[in-house]
Amino acid sequence: MSRYIATRAIRGATALVYEAEQLLNKALKELGPDTPVQFTNTAYYLPVILGLTGIEVSKLGDMPAVLERAKALLHPIPREQVWLPYLGETLDSGIATLFAAELIEGIRFAYGEQPEKITWGGKIAKGGSFTSPEFEGEGNGGTLNGPIDDIQLRAWGIQLVDGRMPGFAAIVGCAKSNEVAVEIVRQLQQRNILVFLSGNVNGRSIIHQLMEEGVELGYDTYTVPFGTDTISAIYALGFATRSALTFGGMKGGMARDILLYNKYRVFAFVLALGEVDDLKYAAAAGAINYGFPVIADTVIPQILPTGITSYEHVISMPFDDIPGENDLERAKRLVQRCIEVRGVKIKVTEVPIPVPYGSAFEGERVRREDMRIEFGGKKARCFEYLRMTDFDAVEDGKVTVVGPGIENVPVGGAMDMGIVVEVAGRKMQEDFEPVLERQIHYFINGASGIQHIGQRDIAWIRISKAAAEKGFNLEHFGKILVARFHADFGAIVDKIQVTIYTDPQKIEEWLAKAREAYNYRNQRLADMTDESVEEFYSCTLCQSFAPNHVCVVSPERLGLCGAYNWLDCKASYQINPTGPNQPIPKGKCLDPVKGYFDKVNEFVQAASHGTVQEVSMYSIMENPMTACGCFEAIMMVVPEANGFMVVSREDPSMTPAGMTFSTLAGVAGGGLQTPGVMGVGKYFLVSRKFIAADGGLKRIVWMSSILKETMAEELKAAAAREGDPDLLDKIADERVATTVDEMLPFLEEKGHPALTMPPLF
Ligand code: SF4
Repeated sequence: MSRYIATRAIRGATALVYEAEQLLNKALKELGPDTPVQFTNTAYYLPVILGLTGIEVSKLGDMPAVLERAKALLHPIPREQVWLPYLGETLDSGIATLFAAELIEGIRFAYGEQPEKITWGGKIAKGGSFTSPEFEGEGNGGTLNGPIDDIQLRAWGIQLVDGRMPGFAAIVGCAKSNEVAVEIVRQLQQRNILVFLSGNVNGRSIIHQLMEEGVELGYDTYTVPFGTDTISAIYALGFATRSALTFGGMKGGMARDILLYNKYRVFAFVLALGEVDDLKYAAAAGAINYGFPVIADTVIPQILPTGITSYEHVISMPFDDIPGENDLERAKRLVQRCIEVRGVKIKVTEVPIPVPYGSAFEGERVRREDMRIEFGGKKARCFEYLRMTDFDAVEDGKVTVVGPGIENVPVGGAMDMGIVVEVAGRKMQEDFEPVLERQIHYFINGASGIQHIGQRDIAWIRISKAAAEKGFNLEHFGKILVARFHADFGAIVDKIQVTIYTDPQKIEEWLAKAREAYNYRNQRLADMTDESVEEFYSCTLCQSFAPNHVCVVSPERLGLCGAYNWLDCKASYQINPTGPNQPIPKGKCLDPVKGYFDKVNEFVQAASHGTVQEVSMYSIMENPMTACGCFEAIMMVVPEANGFMVVSREDPSMTPAGMTFSTLAGVAGGGLQTPGVMGVGKYFLVSRKFIAADGGLKRIVWMSSILKETMAEELKAAAAREGDPDLLDKIADERVATTVDEMLPFLEEKGHPALTMPPLF
């Protein structure tokens, strides 16, 4: 252990704990001990403190106890002459630093000083605006991001567990130049690594650099600016701690488990850009406790032995000494080294197009003023259609454009387009067509400067001016699809060809064929019931994060993340027969109403490692399905109303259960079976089997308005099917009631059916 690093980390920690103490004394005097302390939209209080100590800080008066814990972890600075193993002391001061940093941020929240205001030119994009364009808003009121909220953490959950998002990089400081800053972030984005930004060097931060270069920052592009000082880097460790609490089923105070969880499951590292001061050494020591190595682009002493981290603890790669033709190449190598040191598993598909490519670009928006051309939307038509065809009819890798290119359309204009993908494969089945077709959205969206919304004949694609200037044209849509289908679905797709139609006559012709296929598929899916199949499928993808959770996916009940339905699981099993989706023969039906099947129980017992003995497919009150953490909505019994409420992940409001989504999610998650509480995929609400044993849709007494609005058509149809076409109007939402007392008169006035249904208890 380097005496130099130990000295500086201990010095940095001591100074920060002292700063926290001063600030806390001032705040207690000025604001009083009862002043609330809260990070945005989280049920985990100050998460690092909660995770490592179990202390729930909700007001300033809770802080002195934490400060004492931080002080107890400080050690004297190593002596000049006597050299000792300093690892323990350094790690302790790292934790003290994290406590102090989180206290300081908490106090800043109490003063209304967080998230940090943007006092220079620029703004960041609001999360969810692209993936849910209907809720699009501009900017976030002129502040940086601050801490990541629970809603976003869970929204990223599925990508973290299925490996699409292999880890995160906490970048602290300022790059050599703007150009280098952009290249580092692009390299990370291309590998789908989440990027958290904080810190500065002499007042200049990588956040300033990226904003000056017009890089879109925000949740949707995986690049989250926390704040321009080092202290805000604590939010990255808050995210890491909450990953263990949210998905790992851990509780506050389980420090050792939380740190080990992060070491083995959360592939994160710290990249320190520019001069490393005492505070940065101290914060880095905090990160090392989590198993996160530190890589610096300056000369610092290295700690090469492994132990707390999987590989080296601290690596120094002075930027100008990195071999390379130019700074961009050096930036590339720096990122590559970070990934090696953390042991992040990355699958990069080479896509032959002239713009960067990776999942991190999926959330990027192309605003009208930056747009070269659009297909679909209000001014044009755009559709996409994938079908399987005979082996001989497909010329593998062929991309054809039939009709004019984009050159003749004025800048900012629109044109019609149809993308027809034809695939052939020995293992390909007609059932997989819609599963593969849905991937077109993700695949095309991965290109930087390309925006894709919708699907089927309501697709809407934009190409940015920047992408067009780099030479992106229609043919490249085909090239992306050929590369990605081969890479991701090689087990079922042997050959693929893509035709892009812009010729009006051909568009008419193919659109008619596509619509016929869409109708046929709708009908086929609608006709599929749990009774009509012999087997269900398991999904244990989330076990990488929630080790005992298992979803049982049936034709009428999709996975609670909303991302996997029965057909998806079936396709996934064909692609990867030993993967997380295994067929579960239903076996003997023990109870058709509650949905008990002997083989399903057997499977769940084994897959949950004995934690769960029985699962009822159609009840929330008795042995409900477990939940991992990335559910789209949560249901909970409201005994006073003899029914259930459903709160959606996007809804931050208070519910009649006296808890917000985040707090409820803490009750439901982590692979636990909790009668009366259940995580669900949104579309399960409109299934015939939706809590059929407990009375079905008519039991819903409260629902987030966002669900009511976005699923209005489907919900109305389901309500009509259940014999109560006006049901939706009888269900309360946060606009009329956030407490039981407010809700009950509303239900009575509307004559809600749950009030007269048989008692739930
Ligand atoms: S289906 Fe269930 S286990 Fe699979 S990814 Fe979704 S939530 Fe996780």
